[in-house]
Amino acid sequence: MLESARQAITSAAQQLGWSEGQTEEFLTPSRVHRFTVELDDESFEAFRVQHNNRLGPFKGGVRFHPDVDMDEVQALATLMTIKCAVMNIPMGGGKGGVTWNPRERSQDDIETVARSYVRHLVDHIGPDTDVPAPDVNTNGQVIDWMDDEYEQLTGDDSHASFTGKTLGNGGSQGRITATGRGGMIALREYCRTHDIETEGLCVAVQGVGNVGYWFARLAETELGATVVAVSNSKQTLVNYDGLNVASVSEDTVMEELQGEEHDRDAILSLDCDVLVLAALGNVIDADNQDQIKAKTVLELANGPVSYDATAALEDRGVHVIPDVLANAGGVIVSYLEWLQNKQGEHWSEAEVNQKLDDIMCSALSDCLSSEQPLKNAAFTAALERLSE
Ligand code: NAD
Repeated sequence: MLESARQAITSAAQQLGWSEGQTEEFLTPSRVHRFTVELDDESFEAFRVQHNNRLGPFKGGVRFHPDVDMDEVQALATLMTIKCAVMNIPMGGGKGGVTWNPRERSQDDIETVARSYVRHLVDHIGPDTDVPAPDVNTNGQVIDWMDDEYEQLTGDDSHASFTGKTLGNGGSQGRITATGRGGMIALREYCRTHDIETEGLCVAVQGVGNVGYWFARLAETELGATVVAVSNSKQTLVNYDGLNVASVSEDTVMEELQGEEHDRDAILSLDCDVLVLAALGNVIDADNQDQIKAKTVLELANGPVSYDATAALEDRGVHVIPDVLANAGGVIVSYLEWLQNKQGEHWSEAEVNQKLDDIMCSALSDCLSSEQPLKNAAFTAALERLSE
């Protein structure tokens, strides 16, 4: 993922006439924090990469996962810089993580690790410095613990040092649905620009977790699309009459939906109009891109299609709507949460959704009017803004 991010940036930088030195300087993170967090007699590697803050405070999630490493965190921080710049929000790129598996741990253990993470970073985060958020295996509760630790250590009770908090602790309406909703908006605007009818559009969604579920549900209810397949880490469910994701709840989606059962990766080669990748990074590379039969690929996970595979897909007429455009809904609503905290306001869900729509439409229209593939258009737009 880091290599693909570097390739996309280098190619956009060359197009803009940046020197090699300028590009290398941009690729190098401003600051890298590497430390260990302690839990009783165990300790785990932890990271915070602060990539670029030219447009505003560093911003990005903290993931708890056994596979977290420096390359991944750096790639995600770099993509966050691009994402905030292309969306024209005054935030920079950051990302963090702890290399451990919280899945079979008690809530007390998770709280200890969350608080320890903040104690190590307290001098380097804050409302105008770096504003972390939840990510893989971290949620509103974990962020509430981090926010509380920060308040105890600094006395800052603005709640603007973290986003993705629970609603009672300064979180924003609309955060749970934000990334899926942003994906729906990206697809809607893409179809509008290309004169594609969304009613009956045949859509397959890899990874029907938080992002995939809300995308699928809103694509059905707001665009009239037909979701014909969904998958999770175990299997794919297919029903060409439409699965009706909106009729089931987020937590039980795979148990409740009725469809033919196929193996996990069958979804990638399904005949459909739009393949949505909402599970994890590094799913499509140069070796398996030829399996894709969809006409359009929507990247809702971070970095699911490699740089080479994107080029090969575009060459054979499969358009890729890149992650930095398609999954920006989450960071946009995080930014809106930060604004509400700083201004002491609480906005309704309708207000948040409208602002999200406005920000995304404005950024998307710039990129969609470009003649070049969307990934190049997004990266050049971001680098231009960052160098202004
Ligand atoms: P999640 O954990 O809620 O859902 C992930 C889903 O993917 C689950 O259903 C899981 O079973 C499935 N999955 C895992 N491995 C799979 C595989 N090999 N094949 C098919 N499905 C598989 O996570 P989420 O919050 O929905 O995030 C999904 C992706 O989007 C992640 O890559 C995340 O980094 C990215 N993302 C999330 C947000 C956000 O706001 N949540 C924002 C930007 C990007």
